[in-house]
Formats: sequence, C-alpha cells, structure tokens
Amino acid sequence: MYKNLIAGEWREGTGTRVNLSPSDTADQVGLYTQASAQDTLAAIESAEQAQPIWAARSLQQRADALDFIGSEILARREELGILLAREEGKVLVEAIAEVTRAGQVFKFFAGEVLRIQGEHMASVRPGIEIDILRQPVGVVAIITPWNFPIAIPAWKIAPALAYGNSVVFKPADLVPGSAWALSEIISRAGLPDGTFNLLMGRGGVVGQAMVESPRVKAISFTGSAETGRNLLQTASARFAKLQLEMGGKNPLVIMNDADLAQAIECAVQGSYFSTGQRCTASSRFIVEKGIYRRFVEGVQERLESLRVGHALHADSQIGPVADQAQYEQNLNYVSIGQAEGAVLATGGQPLKRDTHGYFMSPALFIDTAADMRIAQEEIFGPIACAIPADNYEHALQLANGTPFGLSAGICTTSLKYATHFKQHVQSGMVMVNTPTAGVDYHVPFGGTKGSSYGPREQGRYAAEFFTTVKTAYTHV
Ligand code: ADP
Repeated sequence: MYKNLIAGEWREGTGTRVNLSPSDTADQVGLYTQASAQDTLAAIESAEQAQPIWAARSLQQRADALDFIGSEILARREELGILLAREEGKVLVEAIAEVTRAGQVFKFFAGEVLRIQGEHMASVRPGIEIDILRQPVGVVAIITPWNFPIAIPAWKIAPALAYGNSVVFKPADLVPGSAWALSEIISRAGLPDGTFNLLMGRGGVVGQAMVESPRVKAISFTGSAETGRNLLQTASARFAKLQLEMGGKNPLVIMNDADLAQAIECAVQGSYFSTGQRCTASSRFIVEKGIYRRFVEGVQERLESLRVGHALHADSQIGPVADQAQYEQNLNYVSIGQAEGAVLATGGQPLKRDTHGYFMSPALFIDTAADMRIAQEEIFGPIACAIPADNYEHALQLANGTPFGLSAGICTTSLKYATHFKQHVQSGMVMVNTPTAGVDYHVPFGGTKGSSYGPREQGRYAAEFFTTVKTAYTHV
C-alpha cells in the first residue's frame, strides 16, 4: 500500500483507496492510504517547523533541489506517463506530454529561485532608503483536481518551494498514483523533513482540515466552482491568502472569414481531446451564419472518425471518461440537451470496448440556444454545442454570456475582429486561430468572473501568490 508523506516519514493513514483504471475497471493501479484530519494536522505542524529551515537554505540548494525533481520527472516520462494514462484515462501521448510539462515546470522554477527580485527605491524623505522585499508566505496548502494529476500539482508545488514556502499537498482522491510518484521524487530531493507533505484522502476531511487550520497561510486550489466557493468562505474568514481555479464554459467563435479547416481542427482539438476534461476546453462553438453549416458538418465528420478506446492502446485518440460518476453526468447532460430541444448531431452514446471502461462517443449538439443548460453549465466531458450568431457583435455578446471567463478563442482572418476580440472578450486567456486549450508554462494562467479568484498561476506571475511583500525603510 502507498503511504502518505508526513514530517519526512511514510505513514499509513486510517483507510484505503483502490485506484482503478477507467479504461479497464479490472485493472487495479494500486492501493493508497487515506489520511485522517489528525494526520493532516500533524503534517501542517511539521510544515510550519520546516518552513524557516527551508527558506534559510541557500538559493543554490533550493534551485538544485527543484532541478533534481525536474530532471527525474523528465528522465522517467514514459513510465510516469503510463501510470498517468492508466489511472486518469487520457491517451498515452497526452499523458507523456503532461509528465513532460511537469518536469519543465520544475526546471523553470529552479531558474526562478535565482531570479527572485526585490526593489530598491528612493524615499520622499531625505536620508531614507526603501527596500521592497519578497518573502515566503509560510505553509501553503495545495489542493488539486483529477484531470491533470501531475501537471497541476507541479505548477503549484514548484513555485511554492521555489519561493521558500513549505507545502501540504492533497491530490484528488481519484488519481493518487501520479501524485504519490511525484511526492516520492520530491522526498529524495534533499528538502528538510516536513518541507513537503503528501496527504491522500477525502476532500471533506483532509482538504477541510487544511482550509480551517490557522497555520496554513495560503491555499492554492483547482476544482469545482462549488468547492471553491465553500473554501473561499472558510479561508477568507481567517484571512488566508487564496488562489482558486474553478473551471469554465469556454467559447470558440468562428467567423465567416475563418480558414474552415483550421477552425474545425481548433474545435475538435480544443473541445474533445483529453476526453473534454480540461478546464480550458471549448464547449460552445459560436458560429457566424455564413459558415455555420459547413463548420458543423466538418466537425461532425471529424468526430465520427475519431478512435475512442483504452488509454494505453496505441491507436486510441480519445480515452475513457475518468470515472463512473463523471460518465453518468455526461450521459445525463446529453439527455438534458435533447430535452431542451437542441439537436444531437452526433455522438453522446456509451461505447462497448474489449474491457469494461467509461467510453462514450464525442457529442456535438447543433442549433443550441444560448440560455440552454448545456450552453451555460460546465459539463467537463466530450460534449460541445454549436450556437449560430448573426454577426461579430452578436458572437461577442454570446461569448461573454456565461458566469465563467477562463479561456476564449476566435477563428478569423480579420485583424480587426481578432484585435477587438482580444480586447473585449471577458476571459483570462484568449486564443486567435488556435485551440482554447493548450497553454505555455512560462506565462500567466487564470481566468476572470466565476472562473478564478486571486493572483494568476505560472510563470513569474506565480510570485504574486507565493510570496508576500515587505517594505523596509532605512535611515542612512
Ligand atoms: P472535481 O470535480 O475536480 O473533483 P472538486 O471541487 O470536487 O472538483 O475537487 C477538487 C479538489 O478539492 C479535490 O482534491 C477534492 O478532494 C478537494 N475537496 C473537495 N471538497 C473539499 C472541501 N470541503 N475542502 C477542501 N477540499 C475539498
């Protein structure tokens, strides 16, 4: 059984979770212990003790530790990719790419350790000098979802450690395998005991204990809007620093002047790959009427040619849905869309394969009205809807017409539309002629409106969340 890492020791918790492959529920990935609230408090205490020791290590030692972690992840990308594909269900090429990303993130923040910047400023008063210092926040809780089992933990843990914080990490219950493998690598990087702690277990137990503990100074969370909202209430009441990423309902606008083949590729890639289980996935195609029929027919044709199957089979392009609950929810949304009067052009059906897994055909709804539930609510599966638009202004209004604002895209050959859209679409990330999903790791990631709360993640913008500013005045 795989154990939790608390205060530098591998410790058994109070229960066990069986990790099953969604491609084949007879394939048991492993048994993982479950932390209790008490285990969580012990980890937080050790993190509190370790943090000043870690922050006092030389920059070179901190950079070397992160570089070691990045190097080992990259060296083992195939093996870790197989584990990830097995437990989460994305196809192997995507899983290896995700592991590679995680390694690159650690390498990036190894470099950032040496680039932590303060400022020196003159004072309005004679004889005074001002230094603006960036300091660690303290103990940081990291709570992650199941859809990127190694990349999301990496892009939170790496900057947390780079800037001298200690970490209590709670991965999603569904995918403890990749999190455990990452933690095992971190455990050999030479950090002081307690600097990094792994607590696998239930959100309502482990996550809740982290959110409530006054020793946890900052919480970085990615997950559902509902959990994010609850967490905000509890943690902000005790003045904790917060960074929340909570999903989207991302629009992809297709203008009459778009390159049709490119638009279809952006739609299929951005919406359905990774089984649609990306918070940046496009789920609304907002299509100008002159290109609407050709676009939806093109997407339908591509979808019907996609091969859905076991995540580890070389010819699968789309893997299974991650678990039974999500599978049932997806199929339920297909029924909801039909009951609302949208036309199901293709897909949305359970698929039988050689193994028992959660396979479904990618679904496209057409002639969708913007206020239907399938066009407003985050589904988080291989389901998208096409909404006709009269012109650019109408398309922009539709694009902005949900409570979310994570990523948005436009396919157009017009510089005028592209420029206006980049300025006026309500989202944290905007893509022109490229899918809404698929981002770089050295630039900020995050959204507006109901999608995100708090400072951006990734790149050097991560310093906003993972450091605190101190202003020092010296009379010279
Ligand atoms: P998802 O749909 O991605 O599973 P959740 O918001 O349910 O979204 O879960 C995201 C992460 O938040 C998971 O690691 C989950 O265990 C954790 N979580 C769930 N409930 C709570 C809670 N009450 N407090 C803290 N973390 C929680």
